[in-house]
Amino acid sequence: MPLRILSIVLLQILGALLGMWLAPRSLEIRGGLAGMLVMGTVWVLWDFTRGLRVLQWLRDDDLSDVPVKLGLWGAVAERVRRAARVREQATRESERRLQDFLAALQASPNGVVLLDASGRIEWFNQTAAAHLGLDPARDRLQHLVNLVRDPGFAAYISGGDYHGDVTMPARSHSSTRPVRISVQLHDYGQGKRLLLSRDITLFEQAEAMRRDFVANVSHEIRTPLTVLSGFVETLQSLPLNESERTRYLDLMGQQAERMQSLVSDLLMLSRLEGSPPPGEGEWSSLPVMAAQMERDARALSAVLNPPMTGPSQHVVFDAAPPWELSGTATEWHSAMSNLMSNAIRYTPAGGEVYCGWLQHEDGRGEFFVQDSGPGIAPEHIPRLTERFYRVDRSRSRDTGGTGLGLAIVKHVVQRHGAELRIESAPGKGSRFAIVFPAARLRPISQPALLDAA
Ligand code: ADP
Repeated sequence: MPLRILSIVLLQILGALLGMWLAPRSLEIRGGLAGMLVMGTVWVLWDFTRGLRVLQWLRDDDLSDVPVKLGLWGAVAERVRRAARVREQATRESERRLQDFLAALQASPNGVVLLDASGRIEWFNQTAAAHLGLDPARDRLQHLVNLVRDPGFAAYISGGDYHGDVTMPARSHSSTRPVRISVQLHDYGQGKRLLLSRDITLFEQAEAMRRDFVANVSHEIRTPLTVLSGFVETLQSLPLNESERTRYLDLMGQQAERMQSLVSDLLMLSRLEGSPPPGEGEWSSLPVMAAQMERDARALSAVLNPPMTGPSQHVVFDAAPPWELSGTATEWHSAMSNLMSNAIRYTPAGGEVYCGWLQHEDGRGEFFVQDSGPGIAPEHIPRLTERFYRVDRSRSRDTGGTGLGLAIVKHVVQRHGAELRIESAPGKGSRFAIVFPAARLRPISQPALLDAA
């Protein structure tokens, strides 16, 4: 403002002086007034031009460089520039927040769809696109009900009660790769709706597994119980001689044993599932474990193949390497014994069972059991570690199998960071191996070696 007044005053003085100097002596006053008028007009035109430049600048998108720096117009331009910069920063900040918010929704493992008051899609994340088969380029502003054709979903939307969810197959669902989702609508804003979708395939599978498990356990227990109570009734109601009584009591003993094995395998599985993974502190000697296994294997083979029924099995044990194994010794023993006892139970008399050890180049170690039994068709192999999955039902039951052995092996192996390898083909026998991680193996200490000897 002072510059504005100063410039006007200076120009007026200059105009007056010039007018007086140029005019004849008698007309000096008039000359001065005319000079002031001319200079005043010049100042107004100059000021007008500066104003026009500021106006022109305001019409531009880029307000970073002010066109006029001094005077009133300079101050106006500078203020406008600062206000624009503050607003630009605020816009950028809210844009960044929006992007962060959308990125967080994108990262959500659940599907998110934002719907306007009339049910049209405003925004959705990739998970929702995969769940509902939406296309980001094509489906924005479309009505969701026109795009998701599942009858259950349509009924849910038209029903108007969104307190619960609705389950339906995802767009990528197929009979070989089932994917099921749960969908729920929530109100927000003014009449807007948020749709959340969640993959519940694993949850439903776990639920089905739990139901199957309970049914299987009941079935496994009911069979020996029925047999047992039948025998009890017979013993109570029929006059039996001594040898008949003994035979019945033996059969009852077998059924009781079968239930006992089942219960102890079930307890073992629940312990494996319920306890934290074993640390690396407890080291046990492999030769000691192997010696115990060999004794059990030979005893089992002798029971299952008594000499009078035919040729015995050929059971071969490689000498165990002088290693110590870390983890829970009882679990390791149970896993290796299960593989060995399966080989003996499924290999017919006269066949061969070979237990051996390997050292891998990367420091891992391997225990394997190779048999000349019936072998297993490829379609069964991935399912062998499921609870109660049996390829040969009658052989399993006849030899005291519970159907839980390989499930226990899988758990033990996983808990210890090891690996279960199964190679088998019908008519060619089977090879089951446990590969121990290098971190769980170390050379045996001298005193333990002596103990094993
Ligand atoms: P089971 O108590 O019935 O033996 P497992 O879980 O140990 O249960 O084994 C699952 C199924 O895998 C068995 O019922 C059997 O059909 C098959 N199986 C396991 N080991 C062998 C083997 N060495 N040879 C042939 N079949 C086997």
